[in-house]
Amino acid sequence: MDLPKLAIAALGGTVSMQARNAGEGVIPTISGETLLASVPELTTLARVTVETLGLLPSASLDFDFLLSALSWANFQIKQGAVGVVITQGTDTLEETATFFDHLWDHEEPLILTGAMRSAAQPGADGPANLLDACRVALAEDSRLRGVQVVMNGQIHPACRVRKTDSLAVQAFSSPVFGPAGMLVENVVRYVRPPAHRTVLPLPQQTTQKVAMLEASLSADTLLLENILELGYDGLVIGGFGAGHVSESWAEVIKHIAKKIPVIIATRTGSGSTAQSSYGFIGGEMDLIRKGASMAGFLCPRKARVLLWLLIGCQREDELARYLLED
Ligand code: ASP
Repeated sequence: MDLPKLAIAALGGTVSMQARNAGEGVIPTISGETLLASVPELTTLARVTVETLGLLPSASLDFDFLLSALSWANFQIKQGAVGVVITQGTDTLEETATFFDHLWDHEEPLILTGAMRSAAQPGADGPANLLDACRVALAEDSRLRGVQVVMNGQIHPACRVRKTDSLAVQAFSSPVFGPAGMLVENVVRYVRPPAHRTVLPLPQQTTQKVAMLEASLSADTLLLENILELGYDGLVIGGFGAGHVSESWAEVIKHIAKKIPVIIATRTGSGSTAQSSYGFIGGEMDLIRKGASMAGFLCPRKARVLLWLLIGCQREDELARYLLED
């Protein structure tokens, strides 16, 4: 029987990490080919092509690098792959997943995975996650679901998934919504319909800068006051509670929002911003009046990715529509 074609790329991260010498910290050195060798069962499921596109800690990935990884993934689909799997560091997985999801216009799945324990650690989760990710990428039911993250036996839609624990194996969750599915005895089982997705054209420019600041108690306005002068093209604020800031921040935001798009998200880690509940200065109703947009369920980091992409394809004027669609 002709096995389906599956493409895998390694970008680095803990899944690709080991220590050069005992006592030294782990660093990314393990190639895609070596990762593949850790899951020999895969050869019975698919014809696999593998590439090492990078060996980076995920903190050092950037949008330009992701665009080149995306073009590699697009090419794999053109070449007949039924799905694509990318392994990378988990620290920025919630952002890269959103980035790819907004640009992935194929029916075939793009699945991201990584590991919380490095290759030589007891109970290393990399091989299991990789095999699970491949099963998800090969599953017919994964078509038309865009980009998803597979970690610890769960499947999370790119637009919802967050890293909610720093070191635990169960580091990923989709607050409020829960996982889209899971692997049950190696079988891919979806328990939710596909999440709503917004696919954008490729950005024509990549030099735009979007700042992200978090509101905090008794914070001064120094950074905020300099956002325009520093040349930022957009601003995302992780606001208090349902999307709030102090009176002094609200005053500065009013001036910034006249010039560049400003999104207010919630810093809480779960839930939506409000639209029409709080009327105090710095509350969401005031901020909306001052020209800011509320992020809804999008966390600050995902809102920043969306805004960067919208500016990159000159659609920032339609921001409100994209936020409402979420
Ligand atoms: N701790 C990270 C990881 O889980 C390191 C990284 O993101 O590269 O992969």
